[in-house]
Amino acid sequence: MLTLPPHGQDPKNVLKNMQAMRANDARWQDGKTFSLVFDPGEEARQLLKDAYCLFFSENALNPSAFPSLRRMEHETVAMTAGLLNGNDQVAGNITSGGTESILMALKTARDYARDQRGITEPNIVLPITSHPAHDKAGAYFNIEIRHAPTQTDYTADVDAMAALIDDNTILIGGSAVQYAQGVVDPIQDIAALAQEHDLLCHVDACIGGFMLPFVEKLGYPVPLWDFRVPGVTSISCDLHKYAYASKGASAILYRDAALRRYQFHAYMDWPGGIYASPTMAGTRPGGALAAAWAIMQHLGEAGYLAIAKDVMHSTQQIADGIAAIDGIQVLGTPHMSIIGIGASHSGLTGLDIYHVGDELQARGWMADRQQHPNSLHLTISRGHHGREQAFLTALAEAVEAAQNQPIKHATTQASLAIANGLTRLLPSRVFGAVSRTANKLSGGDGVPKRSAALYGMLSSLPARGELQELVLDALDSLHSLPKNHTATQTKDKTSES
Ligand SMILES: *Cc1c(COP(=O)(O)O)cnc(C)c1O
Repeated sequence: MLTLPPHGQDPKNVLKNMQAMRANDARWQDGKTFSLVFDPGEEARQLLKDAYCLFFSENALNPSAFPSLRRMEHETVAMTAGLLNGNDQVAGNITSGGTESILMALKTARDYARDQRGITEPNIVLPITSHPAHDKAGAYFNIEIRHAPTQTDYTADVDAMAALIDDNTILIGGSAVQYAQGVVDPIQDIAALAQEHDLLCHVDACIGGFMLPFVEKLGYPVPLWDFRVPGVTSISCDLHKYAYASKGASAILYRDAALRRYQFHAYMDWPGGIYASPTMAGTRPGGALAAAWAIMQHLGEAGYLAIAKDVMHSTQQIADGIAAIDGIQVLGTPHMSIIGIGASHSGLTGLDIYHVGDELQARGWMADRQQHPNSLHLTISRGHHGREQAFLTALAEAVEAAQNQPIKHATTQASLAIANGLTRLLPSRVFGAVSRTANKLSGGDGVPKRSAALYGMLSSLPARGELQELVLDALDSLHSLPKNHTATQTKDKTSES
């Protein structure tokens, strides 16, 4: 059992131990990871840290205690709303991230529909490509989430969505862009459908919100998706992605304050006083909000535009490079800087894209695995500028090396969901544990060392429920200390001198 160190340690010693812990962390500084880290460069990164530290102790739970935070939240929301072509009526809040923003949008829709339409068994209709935060919201707030298939270009199939709407539908939505292939859903058609049925319409712009407006200004074709589209009633837009803010910052925006009111929570009878809070969190860190405000002030329109220009060039270079490699292809026609890479049917036959992912990883590059169709994911951002050729070289080598390996496709959705989650979350020790468990369940022998082999093995597991248990076990072990854990070496103050 790990306990508090009996005596406190010197700050220097604490920091030294923490530095040592980072030895095996993903090396995002090399530009070899995709989607987990968005780096604005050294000067801006320092500003984020300084701004964060300046408001390190402040709490945005009570805005009247900290007028500075209140002002920064208001201005950050307003700047974001302006970027997304909202007018003065748009109201919103800063949250801890895209998931909280989406949770808030769906909770708001539920309470709005209950109040305005008396709906007690609500459902929401979304394309299957919508981010799982929507499914999390459904599970948390008792809302049924209905998924419609996409079209062959991976955008939402609006007819298929229409077919899922019934009297209990409260909201429909789409993404700008969706995560897997980086395309913008036909938001104009979705919003028109929402209006026709008198429904709310949420646009998930968590990843595209601070990129698409600049991509459009640069002259690339971008379908309309923001507050210019009549019928769009809320938009989630992360700041800790393409706004390059520090982690823990996203915006949730509503077309007007009357709708946002359903987001709020107030409890009147607490002995501690009347408790009113705008979002999920109680205590809200001032630092994350301050850093988000600061980076917008620092980069400004011109700064974001310049970064977007570089990122789009990097994306073009990488997309062209992928097209030139026999055996793989870019999926669909991405609208910005997110690319899904799949095996191509015209080139080599029988290339397993997951083997390519393993081979990339062996070369130090981390690309997430995706399903339906099997593919690899790239979110290209500022940190990849100048690394395009190095990536393409590694990719070509990886395809070459993967060619001679047998296909072990995961055949079920659930098995791939596990494998995807695992490769994303997985420290090697947990990978081993899950592999062993999965292996036992499937009655096989030998523990696969590579994720492609794990996918193959998982696909032979029989029941979806069993697979879900396996994922939950994996999460459980990820969020526990390993059995052989030994406490960080402590030196107490007395032995230090
Ligand atoms: C990242 C993302 C989210 C969730 O945001 P978090 O900040 O990870 O909670 C939702 N939707 C899309 C499209 C995303 O890319």
